[in-house]
Amino acid sequence: MVNKMEVYSRLINYCDEKGLYVSTYPGIVEKGYDDIPMICANWNKKKLSKILNWGEKYFEGEVEFGWDDEWIACGECYKAVRTNPDSYGWIPSYMWASDSEIVCHNHYEDYDEDIIDFYKNETDKAVYREFYPILEKNGFVCYSPDEYCQKFETGWHPGQTDDPKKVAKDIEENLPGYDYIFKIDSVGQFDISWSVFLRKGDYND
Ligand SMILES: [Zn+2]
Repeated sequence: MVNKMEVYSRLINYCDEKGLYVSTYPGIVEKGYDDIPMICANWNKKKLSKILNWGEKYFEGEVEFGWDDEWIACGECYKAVRTNPDSYGWIPSYMWASDSEIVCHNHYEDYDEDIIDFYKNETDKAVYREFYPILEKNGFVCYSPDEYCQKFETGWHPGQTDDPKKVAKDIEENLPGYDYIFKIDSVGQFDISWSVFLRKGDYND
């Protein structure tokens, strides 16, 4: 019997020799996908489209074929995470640990301080729901002037006009010395629901 993984590595060598640009990942860390090797390319190119047609059938369930503009490697385990939505409500399974490095959700704890430094006190960045336990572990609590955890909504519907910049200004005026992080709780077709987490600036001292 032919070992499919051996065929797979021959395929990668073949692409390399022919100058066909492909990216390969040892696994996938994205909800809804099996953690199997993945090969990505712009399959619209002629030679590559033939490979895709054959490969998807041949490697079914053992190798995933993806588009190279939709996936990126985790900086820690090099497995693939999706970078753009494939459905309404999709949220990334990765966070930025710096301007140039992302980490998949398996390593949020190892990179917690880097991630927090990257996202804190920024109104145009937000962590996602999955990061919540790490925020809590690092001393962040939900901004709650009126209720346990105030939720905001930004979207196309009347009343959904909350503005992260306004909220940030409010915090800077009323709670000086606090760090804040925006967190996206859910993404709908037309709106986003989000909250804000706070921590005293001298938390680590
Ligand atoms: Zn990873």
